[in-house]
Amino acid sequence: MTLPPAGETTGDLLAELSRLKRHDLPVRGGQVTAYVYDTGRPEVNDAATRAYLEMLEVNCLDPTAFPSVVEMERQVVGAVADVLGGGHGIFTSGGTESIMLAVKAARDAASAARPKLVLPVTAHPAFHKAAHYLGVEVVAVPVDLKTYKVRPGDVEAALDADTILVAVSAPSYPQGVVDPVAEVAAVAAGAGVPCHVDACVGGWLLPWLREAGAAIPPFDLSVPGVTSISCDLHKFGYAPKGASVVLFADPAMRRAAYFASAAWPGYTIINATVQSSRSAGPLGGAWATLRALGREGYVELGRATLAATARLREGIAAIPGLRVLGEPESSLVAFTGAGIDVFVLADEARARGWFLQPQLSYAGIPANLHITVTGVTLAGVEAMLKVIAESAATARARGPVELPEGLVDLVAGLDLDTMDDTSFAELAAAVGVDLRPGTGQPEMAAVNTILDALPAPTREAVLLRFLSVIYGP
Ligand SMILES: *Cc1c(COP(=O)(O)O)cnc(C)c1O
Repeated sequence: MTLPPAGETTGDLLAELSRLKRHDLPVRGGQVTAYVYDTGRPEVNDAATRAYLEMLEVNCLDPTAFPSVVEMERQVVGAVADVLGGGHGIFTSGGTESIMLAVKAARDAASAARPKLVLPVTAHPAFHKAAHYLGVEVVAVPVDLKTYKVRPGDVEAALDADTILVAVSAPSYPQGVVDPVAEVAAVAAGAGVPCHVDACVGGWLLPWLREAGAAIPPFDLSVPGVTSISCDLHKFGYAPKGASVVLFADPAMRRAAYFASAAWPGYTIINATVQSSRSAGPLGGAWATLRALGREGYVELGRATLAATARLREGIAAIPGLRVLGEPESSLVAFTGAGIDVFVLADEARARGWFLQPQLSYAGIPANLHITVTGVTLAGVEAMLKVIAESAATARARGPVELPEGLVDLVAGLDLDTMDDTSFAELAAAVGVDLRPGTGQPEMAAVNTILDALPAPTREAVLLRFLSVIYGP
């Protein structure tokens, strides 16, 4: 846009916002099984929204100017530490930032010449991002292809004098399974290496599932050898986005995550996080959500989540051709198909108003669809199963996506370094993918099938091009 010459009214702006959102997936109601977390309790949402707005313009940059942020952060971090085995925490904007700080702290505490981070192939890309930003090399270890968990012996074999950190997941996102935290942490401790538990998605879920009766192995800072843990409140904490906590067992390690600079003539910088100027809105939202739900609220959501997950797993197993991957301890469920193209299934479900998240094949794990079961899922789980069954039957009848001969080789062979965005968009249009803004959602099965056939580095290059095209010149 060009800046409007005169100011516009709030009414006009809000009307325009709802027009802009017309193709968005719904954030409430449970028909979108990724990205959004819904308690199904509007009063909790209302408390969070109002607290968020109340804190919106407060800046976390200077704790002496706004002591409210120190008190609120101490309360939020304290509540998380209480449940996850103690420690010294930092409130961050999300899992990625929590992981970034855990990797930075480990790197700075270690002083290795060529720092390395050892993790399972199922670990979240936030570790690869942190390693990339921080000049750390990633050493990825395969997982057992029946359980999708890393084997402690494989981690041990990957350690060397330059290893600054070992990471495991509780649970890993792709299959929802919990790595053998105690065993891996013992291996790391034996080698004198810190161990981070990525409980971004599970930290505020597994404790409540355990209280509801699920068998959850110990995974937090109370486990010997675990030195840090990340827990996203904007996932199963049900807080508005921008809320996560990273906890360190050792206060010196937390200090290694901090940053200070007096190297300029302006105000002295002291930052606990990557961001410097930072709204206290997300902190207010998380603080209010924790208190509005309370322990009872989370246990109740845990019960509903556990019941919905059990029903979903049983229901999927009963649909011919579908199979749940592994034995998830959490409420993240991934399933694959035999004789059913899961990418076609996802499009069919989408046409029926349900979003299931496609996951590409990787490291010997087949392509599959991922469902994050939350507190609100239980109310609609039978409807979800009905849609999955219908979509599976239709996908079986339609058969797998048939790509034009040679298309994958063509894409794999593209010289993306020399191609400009316009040519890339034209090429996408030629294979039926319209990247112009405002066109809504295309059928994704063909796109997913092409991506699935490409090696990971080519997938990355193609998708970066996609980003560059959709955001335009
Ligand atoms: C979501 C997630 C992350 C990254 O968190 P963001 O909040 O999206 O930055 C890291 N690890 C796991 C296991 C996750 O599920």
